[in-house]
Amino acid sequence: MSEQEMALPMSQDTFEQLWGDVGSNMGFNELLAELPRADSDAWLTAALPSGTFSENFDGLELPEAPDSAAVAAVMSPVLDSLPPPAAVVPSTSDYPGEYGFQLRFNQSSTTKSVTSTYSSSLNKLYCQLAKTCPVDVLLEQVPPQGAVLRATAIYKKPEHVSEVVLRCPHHQNISENNEGVAHRSHLIRMEGRQRAQYLEDPNTKRQSVTVPYEAPQLGSEVTTVLLNFMCNSSCMGGMNRRPILTIMTLETHDGQVLGRRCFEVRVCACPGRDRRTEEENQNKKTSKLASGNKRKFPGMDSQVASKAESSKKIRIDSGSEEEIFVLHVRGRDRFNMLKTINDSLELTDMLPAADKDKYRQKRTLKNLKKCEKGPHQLNPGKKLLHKDEKTDTD
Ligand SMILES: [Zn+2]
Repeated sequence: MSEQEMALPMSQDTFEQLWGDVGSNMGFNELLAELPRADSDAWLTAALPSGTFSENFDGLELPEAPDSAAVAAVMSPVLDSLPPPAAVVPSTSDYPGEYGFQLRFNQSSTTKSVTSTYSSSLNKLYCQLAKTCPVDVLLEQVPPQGAVLRATAIYKKPEHVSEVVLRCPHHQNISENNEGVAHRSHLIRMEGRQRAQYLEDPNTKRQSVTVPYEAPQLGSEVTTVLLNFMCNSSCMGGMNRRPILTIMTLETHDGQVLGRRCFEVRVCACPGRDRRTEEENQNKKTSKLASGNKRKFPGMDSQVASKAESSKKIRIDSGSEEEIFVLHVRGRDRFNMLKTINDSLELTDMLPAADKDKYRQKRTLKNLKKCEKGPHQLNPGKKLLHKDEKTDTD
């Protein structure tokens, strides 16, 4: 086009002649195909899978949307509200709805013995395989009769989101031997509810579990559901270290969504340790972003800050990892407590194995080390620091 426009003023041809020449050599569609592609929204529109192609574009070679772009399009907030494609990839946007649907977690501690703990800063639940994770459901209004709560797992990353979350073959087979086969492939279970229903969508094959919504008991404002996650995040042939989200929805009896809440889940051997590590990593990122001045410790008095700085060498992991992490601690008491723990760990690492047994006799250290043990390691003769870290792959 631009060539011809430039050529036109110099040409002696009439427009009709020019058009005739062009028309004889090229079909209209071919001419259109020669149009510069950069300027138009039309190309974008045509590339979207909206089914509203203009007839003018028939016969053109449209750029094919790659898979990842298609997934991103389905997940984008704009298209989220369109009805049919959402079924393929369930929405993960929080939506309290008219009933004010909310979840609350027992945040609990980050000690090594904890079996389930929640990080509000990361909106992430850390739990051990098959252990009970209580989740409190809060509603501002009484939902319609027959309302249900549904839990669905999906992969967090766009490149995995189209794949259905299932248990790994290993854990499925274990189940087959000592439980019914009905929901052995389901990652999420709801415990302690006789009326839990395990469902698989016939189209998407996504699995979910529902329970009837029960109003809070007298004197309570929440309804507690007990979730179990039946594989580790690391399970080979299952989640395989891919992060997942759990979507909790409040629905009418016929599946109309009334409210939705979403949170990330990591199923691992040491929920407390992993939460601590990931929160620290996040803090490092945000503090780097917040200020170019790395010497400042917002919210701390200068004395505590300098103390914290002097404790730079806090070892998170005494396995093979030698990496040094910096921990910023708010409040002197907490700092002293963590420093004592760290000093003890450093000391223990330096001792020969034989001497460790002698130290274990001593009351003071014994108390400290209790914090380091999981519940399954209470046998005093057998204790090895951080022994439980190996179990992550099971
Ligand atoms: Zn598994």
